Amino acid sequence: MHYCQSCETPVAMEPRNGHAVCPECGRADDVAAPGPLFVVTGASGSGKTAVLAGLARRLQGRCVTFDADLLMDAAGALSGSRPIDWPAFRDAWLAVAHGVAQSGMPTVLLGPFIPTHLQELPARRWIGDIHFIVLDCPDELRRARINARPPWRSRDIEEQVEFGQWLRRNIADRVDTSSELQKTPRRPSPHGSTAI
Ligand SMILES: [Zn+2]
Repeated sequence: MHYCQSCETPVAMEPRNGHAVCPECGRADDVAAPGPLFVVTGASGSGKTAVLAGLARRLQGRCVTFDADLLMDAAGALSGSRPIDWPAFRDAWLAVAHGVAQSGMPTVLLGPFIPTHLQELPARRWIGDIHFIVLDCPDELRRARINARPPWRSRDIEEQVEFGQWLRRNIADRVDTSSELQKTPRRPSPHGSTAI
C-alpha cells in the first residue's frame, strides 16, 4: 500500500511504530498511524442497514462510519464481466480504514465480515486492533425480514440463517435487534444493497 519514494524500483514499505519504513533504504514516512477498526457484522436481515444512519449520527465527530455496500457498485464496475473479487473488496475497506486513521479517527464498518476474512489481507498490517460485534435476531425473524424485502434484493434465506447461526456461535459480542427494529418500517436501501 505504501511504496518507497526514494528507491529506484517500487519497494513495499513496512509498518513500524506508526511509520512506513522502507526495508531497502530505511526511509521512514509519517503516514502510518495504526487506528482501530470496529466491524459491525451480521447476516442479512440482522438490521445492519437499519442501524446505519442512527449509528453514524451518534458517532459523528468520534468515528467515521461506513456501510460496506457503499463500494458495491464500484466493485461491480471494476470487475467488468467477472465475479467480484471479495478479498480485494475487503482489502479496499481496510485501506479506507487505514486512510481514515491518518486523520485520527477510528473506522466503524458495517458488513457481513468474519475475523478470518480480514486477517490474511495485505492491508491488515496497516490497521491496529480489529473489534467485532454481531447484530443478531432469532432465525424466524430473519426469515420474515428477508421475505419482506423488495423483490430485487437477494433471497438466499437459509444460507443467511446458517451464517447468522455461525456468527452467534463464534462472535462473543452480540446485540439482539429483534425488539428495536420491529418498530421501524424497513425501506429499501437507495444505493442497491446486496448480500455478500
Ligand atoms: Zn527505499
